[in-house]
Amino acid sequence: MEFMEERIRRDGKVAPGEILKVDTFLNHQIDVSLIRQIAKALKEHFGDREITKVVTIEASGIAIASITAEEFGVPMVFAKKSKSRNLNSDTYKSRVYSYTHDRYYDIVVNENALNDGDKVLLVDDFLANGQAMHGLLDICQQAGAEVAGIGICIEKSFQPGGKALREEGYDVLSMAKIKSLENGTVEFEQ
Ligand code: 5GP
Repeated sequence: MEFMEERIRRDGKVAPGEILKVDTFLNHQIDVSLIRQIAKALKEHFGDREITKVVTIEASGIAIASITAEEFGVPMVFAKKSKSRNLNSDTYKSRVYSYTHDRYYDIVVNENALNDGDKVLLVDDFLANGQAMHGLLDICQQAGAEVAGIGICIEKSFQPGGKALREEGYDVLSMAKIKSLENGTVEFEQ
């Protein structure tokens, strides 16, 4: 989407390790009207899917998922990053590898927040290798919830997550697709 590419061109900063920093509008300081535009684009694409919940992972997905959930008129659920090693019997749990922090962490969702009647829209700020999304898909599968679509703000399409999810049959809508961050320059897919 043009609005997202323009904003990345203007305010995104390329950091070492093929990381795009978007701290001035998406990850730290948040431009809520930009998120509203994202939410409206997701509603336009996924609006006929009878979504019952919008699901994300803390922390940076929360703002995007909240405004999106309001747009759909449904609750938002965020998977919590768990530090506890205790296996709680009333939670769904999955293990995720963090690309940006180079470590594994567990995500948990209470059983009463997601169930087999739910049709879920998964959202996140970035899609890179797809680890975070696969953690959420694992949790939805444990809950018996149906995943009706995946909405992403920024897909790094030079990493394999988006391609793999589409090959698995998921409808992935990304606001911007970045094909390269080489030499500190952002190049978008046409
Ligand atoms: P994946 O799990 O798809 O490999 O990576 C997605 C997660 O890693 C996102 O939730 C996001 O927080 C983080 N991430 C991946 N690449 C970037 C990046 O270039 N910039 C930022 N800010 N976060 C990223």
